[in-house]
Amino acid sequence: MTDTRTRADWENLLATLTPQGRHFIDGRLTDAISGETFSRPRPMDGKPGTALARGRAADIDRAVASARKAFDGAVWRGKEPLERKTIMLRWAALIRAHGEELALLETLDVGKPVTASLGVDVRLCADGIQFYAEMIDKLYDEIAPTGPKARALVRKVPLGVVGAITPWNYPMIIDAWKLGPAIAAGNSVVLKPAEQSSLTAIRLAELGFEAGLPAGVLNVVTGHGEEAGKPLALHMDVDMIAFTGSTEVGKLIMTYAAQSNVKRVALELGGKSPLVVFADADLDAAASAVAWGCFYNSGETCHASTRLVVERSVQEALIEKIRAVTAREITLGHPLDPAAQIGALIEEGHMEKVLSMIAAGENEGAKRAFGAERVMAETGGYYVSPGVFVDMTNDMSLARQEIFGPVLAAIPFDTEEEALSIANDTIYGLAGAVFTRDMDRAHRMSEAIHAGTVWINTYDMSNFATPFGGFKQSGFGRDRSVHAIDKYCDYKTIWQQFG
Ligand code: NAP
Repeated sequence: MTDTRTRADWENLLATLTPQGRHFIDGRLTDAISGETFSRPRPMDGKPGTALARGRAADIDRAVASARKAFDGAVWRGKEPLERKTIMLRWAALIRAHGEELALLETLDVGKPVTASLGVDVRLCADGIQFYAEMIDKLYDEIAPTGPKARALVRKVPLGVVGAITPWNYPMIIDAWKLGPAIAAGNSVVLKPAEQSSLTAIRLAELGFEAGLPAGVLNVVTGHGEEAGKPLALHMDVDMIAFTGSTEVGKLIMTYAAQSNVKRVALELGGKSPLVVFADADLDAAASAVAWGCFYNSGETCHASTRLVVERSVQEALIEKIRAVTAREITLGHPLDPAAQIGALIEEGHMEKVLSMIAAGENEGAKRAFGAERVMAETGGYYVSPGVFVDMTNDMSLARQEIFGPVLAAIPFDTEEEALSIANDTIYGLAGAVFTRDMDRAHRMSEAIHAGTVWINTYDMSNFATPFGGFKQSGFGRDRSVHAIDKYCDYKTIWQQFG
């Protein structure tokens, strides 16, 4: 069904909302122990945002204690699987029922178009919770082979208290990628969302509680990374940190785990993904995949196709097609305008960083084909237009650094060997793609590109059945799919000897 809401409809709905900025601990909204708050401007127009509780170590201690009490008391993991499944399914249903509200909160926080927040982020968040709910009563343990005088049970048991630390680019989706499997496996969770995107995390926790998650099973502590994330990752009573964010902070998370209680870590980190286009490819399909793959969410996507590795003979034609797709389909606009396909960048400082990376790239000789400029400055928001740089080499900064803005680097090649070498010449290994009509070559390339996901003649297609995550400095551990449950559990052997 087509959504017929106008910008005025969304603005009216927004006027009725009173976003909540307090922690959610032990089944209750609560202020920071210090009473401190912080806030940040809204990306869409620079106006003041919601006051948020400024969490610190004391708040983390309180949330971890609540999570530990819930875990040790088995108030969740001790329930019948069918009951847990029913509660999580109810949670997914409540997320859907509160879709418009959640979409507006997400858009207020991060500046993405509300239609995308509703149609993509809310939907995938609810789908994620549902996917893991449905697994709960289908998880079996094992009996290991032994002699007749013994029986060895191999039990898959939850870890205990999981700390989840998440980024601001797809807050609700990534929260669901952590919360779904961690809670389905029987753990308790303390979630520290990015300081830029707390509103939906708080609401998700409230809805989970309303659905029947016992107090303490899901806690949210808002605040800054150094002040709340670090004490969570250093906490002696946290058994695991599930982290999504930058490679730089991911490395810190590993040191915190080593400096504290050798807790497990799972890291979903940055990317600089190559999309390789051979001259025999369907160039229209490739242009659409490149433009949407790189510019969707204003380029604030970890697996964005930011490096176009293109056979030299078709570079010019392909760039013209990318320009046309971008102009025709990827409308940049105010996030409450239903016509907008992409909106604002997350904050002024990030926009300045993106613009300074573009300027540095041009100083190195990067040749601009179009875009990559600040636009809509009169709104007070932080908007940068999709842009492409051509005739790049893979050693230039725009081809190497994760920009996290709508900027594409086109790097020409002459041979398949050269294309592969450029594709793999990066510290990251999150995703990649190959476009060609030669299926032998497609399979050779897809096997050889060292990345967690490689697409053939498409980009960014996925569903919950497929694992997502990276190789190299894009991290380790996989979100999504039935396998994601594994990292929130461990094996326990119970050996019984007879006679
Ligand atoms: P970030 O700066 O690394 O922050 C991620 C989270 O870590 C935030 O909650 C942040 O809190 C927290 N944090 C910061 N410093 C910390 C510290 N010292 N100790 C503990 N926690 C700390 O990343 P971001 O800017 O939010 O997100 C963008 C990055 O995420 C990009 O690199 C992107 O590629 C990556 N990403 C990866 C995936 C994936 O699945 N591989 C998905 C999405 C995004 P504050 O916000 O308060 O600083």
